[in-house]
Amino acid sequence: MSAGRNPFPSVRHDHRACVDHALHDAETLCAAQGLRLTPIRRRVLELIWQGHKPRGAYEILEQLAAEGHKPSPPTVYRALDFLVEHRLVHRVNSRNAFVGCVHPGDPHAAQIFICDRCGVAVEQSDGTLQRRILRNAQGMHFLVREQTVEITGICPRCAEHQHEA
Ligand SMILES: [Zn+2]
Ligand SMILES: [Zn+2]
Ligand SMILES: [Zn+2]
Repeated sequence: MSAGRNPFPSVRHDHRACVDHALHDAETLCAAQGLRLTPIRRRVLELIWQGHKPRGAYEILEQLAAEGHKPSPPTVYRALDFLVEHRLVHRVNSRNAFVGCVHPGDPHAAQIFICDRCGVAVEQSDGTLQRRILRNAQGMHFLVREQTVEITGICPRCAEHQHEA
């Protein structure tokens, strides 16, 4: 982990700022690449960014339905594919869910640290680790498609509560 502040979000952080930042980044990125951030794509991204926990497609569909929209599942899946393809979100395979990327548009392999207790996920992108994985893959003539690493454990906030109990 890089020096400086712990990237795990504190309870009191201004999450609205995280959401605004993510949507602003997405708009900038799409405009720069001539992509269309349609209302459904934008709303799905916003729902993924509702918090720092990975969100599943089903959860997103349910929420859209509760808001009175009735998008068909394929519409939502296509929006998710778009967000993954253009690196606005990361797929979290172990949870069958999606989490917002903190530096979209910047090609990187993410290591996603997921808390078993509260479900919060934080990403890091260690270039050394990424290069080492690619080197090992090359050694085996293995063509890498995706190299997201998922790490589970206890986040600092939950670890703190553990001491209190
Ligand atoms: Zn936040
Ligand atoms: Zn990322
Ligand atoms: Zn936690």
